[in-house]
Amino acid sequence: MSWDFETEPAFQAELDWIDQFIKEEVEPLDHVLGSPWDIHDARFKTLVRPLQRVVKERALWACHLGPDLGGRGYGQVKLALMNEILGRSAFGPIVFGCHAPDSGNGEILAHYGTPEQKKRWLEPLLNNDIVSCFAMTEPQGGADPQVFTTRAERDGDEWVITGHKWFASNARYAAFFIVMAVTDPDVSAYEGMSMFIVPAATPGLDIIRNVGVGDDPQATHAYLEFDRVRVSADALLGAPGKAFEVAQVRLGGGRVHHAMRTIGQAQKALDALCERALSRHTQGERLADKQMVQEKVADSWIELEQFRLLVMRTAWRIDKYGDYRKVRKDIAAVKATMPKVLHDIAARALQVHGSIGVSQEMPFAGLVNRAFQMALADGPTEVHKVTVARQVLRDYAPTEAMFPAYHRPTAAAAAQDKFRAALA
Ligand SMILES: Cc1cc2nc3c(=O)[nH]c(=O)nc-3n(C[C@H](O)[C@H](O)[C@H](O)COP(=O)(O)OP(=O)(O)OC[C@H]3O[C@@H](n4cnc5c(N)ncnc54)[C@H](O)[C@@H]3O)c2cc1C
Repeated sequence: MSWDFETEPAFQAELDWIDQFIKEEVEPLDHVLGSPWDIHDARFKTLVRPLQRVVKERALWACHLGPDLGGRGYGQVKLALMNEILGRSAFGPIVFGCHAPDSGNGEILAHYGTPEQKKRWLEPLLNNDIVSCFAMTEPQGGADPQVFTTRAERDGDEWVITGHKWFASNARYAAFFIVMAVTDPDVSAYEGMSMFIVPAATPGLDIIRNVGVGDDPQATHAYLEFDRVRVSADALLGAPGKAFEVAQVRLGGGRVHHAMRTIGQAQKALDALCERALSRHTQGERLADKQMVQEKVADSWIELEQFRLLVMRTAWRIDKYGDYRKVRKDIAAVKATMPKVLHDIAARALQVHGSIGVSQEMPFAGLVNRAFQMALADGPTEVHKVTVARQVLRDYAPTEAMFPAYHRPTAAAAAQDKFRAALA
């Protein structure tokens, strides 16, 4: 029997080192640099590359990967404990080589890539010599793959891709794109789409514009056009018609990693809320002495702890089963809970800070917006709730009876029967 809520001392020592490193060396980067994916910015080379070297020397680089790919094979539980610290800073994940979307893209390249694809794209990606983009969503919809129309047609030894993609994060910095396209329009979207690797410089691939969100320093989500983009036959990633399956491998881990990092962001908002409540006075007492402020502190702490336990258990189950499909309900539950937890805690922190809280001088409005982003990226909350509900309902069966077994008179009659002899 093991049912443990403690971190082993040796790993706790690593976490303590990470915590201090993030606070002292990485969090300040958020205030002087732009997008963490802008790896060709000269300042990135000066400020971020040395930190990445420190992380590599400490053998904490790309811990989401197995040893065969240069990681530690830590598994999701250790990764969760790390990621909730890295999540405090926009630059945390890239300094530790486990940033989205490259972590997920690397995962599917490792899983489905040919040896040539791995050599060309995976190796430099894992080393953060390049960054990548995942282009699935289209302007007419993202939540339902059945509306995707970007088409890839075979022409001799090549595939020709035509269509539009929307909200493709970091396209402007990416060396290559992983693109989902319809290869067989005569079957369902779940069997008729394939995944392609498209080099960024391929003629016909253009960024129509970059869209910005919240208080991100740069607009990084691209509206893309594929105008008869030609790629060779070996650009196919995974088997033809298997894009949906490939995407799920990527999204399973990605959603949980976002949740782990969200804990760090929500914790930061809670820390600010508590510090402010203890520091600010009104009507002769601290805000912390007001019961309605205490309620905000209590609700925030409770919700964050509940969420953290759900994330940790989900991480533990992924490690236990080694198969995302067996943990679908848990991952969907984590994904559906994450935006609400971040939204509510950030909104309370904003409110307790008063006017400065709502201003651009504080991070809270950005975090509230970020909560909405989390409720959309990797699928809307509603869709994940549907998954949870369907999976929960699988464990139940309908009853034919007019009155169910839990109906009190029915249950009482059954109990009378069971204990007839003793009650006589
Ligand atoms: C910050 C951010 C980064 C992103 N990065 C990428 C990326 O790198 N690559 C990429 O391909 N995409 C990316 N996306 C796009 C994301 O995957 C889509 O926004 C998401 O899938 C929803 O698609 P949509 O925006 O077209 O909304 P729609 O599909 O139009 O849905 C709109 C709304 O309708 C409701 N809804 C939809 N389906 C259902 C349902 N079944 N039941 C009930 N209500 C429903 C929900 O309220 C939903 O929010 C990103 C999005 C964000 C916000």
